[in-house]
Amino acid sequence: MDKVVSPANRWSWVEVNLAALRRNTTAFRRQLTRGTQLMCVVKADAYGHGAVPCVKTMHSAGASQFAVATVDEGVALREAGIEWPILVLSEPPVDCVRTLVRYDLMPSVYTADFALALGEAAAAENRVARYHLAIDTGMTRIGVRRQDAVELRRTIDFHRGLECAGTFTHFATADVPDDWDFALQLNRFRETVAALRGAGLETGLVHCDNTPGTVLHPECHFDMCRVGIGLYGLHPAETTRVRIELEPVMSVRGRVTRVLYPNVGDGVGYGLTWRVPKQNIQVATVPIGYADGLSRELSNQMDVLVGGCRCRQVGNICMDQFMFAVDVNSVRAYRPSRPVEYGDVVTILGADGDERITAEEMAKLRGTINYEIVCDFGMRLEKIYT
Ligand SMILES: *Cc1c(COP(=O)(O)O)cnc(C)c1O
Repeated sequence: MDKVVSPANRWSWVEVNLAALRRNTTAFRRQLTRGTQLMCVVKADAYGHGAVPCVKTMHSAGASQFAVATVDEGVALREAGIEWPILVLSEPPVDCVRTLVRYDLMPSVYTADFALALGEAAAAENRVARYHLAIDTGMTRIGVRRQDAVELRRTIDFHRGLECAGTFTHFATADVPDDWDFALQLNRFRETVAALRGAGLETGLVHCDNTPGTVLHPECHFDMCRVGIGLYGLHPAETTRVRIELEPVMSVRGRVTRVLYPNVGDGVGYGLTWRVPKQNIQVATVPIGYADGLSRELSNQMDVLVGGCRCRQVGNICMDQFMFAVDVNSVRAYRPSRPVEYGDVVTILGADGDERITAEEMAKLRGTINYEIVCDFGMRLEKIYT
C-alpha cells in the first residue's frame, strides 16, 4: 500500500484498474449469444471511471458500440478521437440536431418532431442521420408507446435524411428472477418488433438487455446487449453473482495529511458530533469530502482501511476532508499494527490486505445502490489508471 503513486497536488484519488475492466469486458463477451454485439454503457463518465480510457479498453476487449446519456458526453468522446458508434440513450432537445449530425451521434428517437428536425439537419449536409427507435414497453420513462411505434415510423420514414439503425426497449425489473412484469415487457417488445417488420419497416439492431438482463435472460440477447454496471465489476443485484465472476474496477484512496492524539473530550469536525472518549486515540485527517462524492450521510457510520485494518470514520464529513479515529488499544479488527502516521495510505473504497470496503457496503449505509457510489466518486477526484 505504501508504494502507490498518488497525485502531486492532492492526497486523494480514484484508482481505475483497466486490467480488471478488460477482464470484465471479456467475461461479458463470453456470455453473449453468438453474433450478439456488446454495447458498453459509458454514461456519466463511465459510471465515474473516466469514459475515454474505459472506452479504449472495452473496445480492445471486443466491444463494438458505446452508449452515453447526454449529447455532451458523446461530443467529448468524439473530441477525444473515439470513432466507434455512439448511441445517446434518450431523445435530446431538438436544438441539438446539428450537433448530433456533425459529431455522428445516434440519438434515441420517440417523437416525430424531433426525428424530422434531425432528418432536415442531416439532409442539409447531404448526410443520413442514424437513430435508434426507443419503445416504452412498461417502464414509463422514455420511448414511443408501443401501440404508436408503427405509426411514428410511418410518419417519419419518407425522410431521406433518416435511417433507423436500431430498435430497443429498457426493462424495469430485469434483475428479478421469474418476474411477471419482465415477461410482460419482453412480450410487448417482441410484438412491437414483429409489428414493425410486418409493416415492412427496417428495425436495425434489436436490443433490450442491460447487465442483469444479459446475465439472467440470454433468450433476449437479440442483436446487441447494453451492458453498464457489470463492466465496472459491480453486480446489479444478488441474483447475478452466481452467474458471472466480476472484479471491482474502482478503488478510492487518500493519504493522511495530519494526525494527533487529542485530549479526552475534544470534539471532531463541524458540530463536534464525535468526542474523544478516552486516552490513546489518534484522530487523522484525509483530504476527501462530500464534494468528492463521499456523502455526508456516511458521517460517523463508515469505516476506512489503514494497513489492512478497519478504522472508524468520526465527526461530520466536510466538503473536502474527513477524519477517522484509531484506537490503539481497540479490539483486533480495529487495531492497526502501528500508530497512523502522516502520509499513510487510507482506503475508502476497495481492498487493503485481506480487508475490503465494497460499494455495496457504502450503498447500504446510504440507503442507495452501488451505481450511485461509483458515479459520485467520479465528481472531482483525480483518476489514476493502473
Ligand atoms: C443505464 C442503462 C443501461 C445499462 O444498465 P446497467 O444496469 O448499468 O447495465 C442500459 N440501457 C439503458 C437504456 C440505460 O439507461
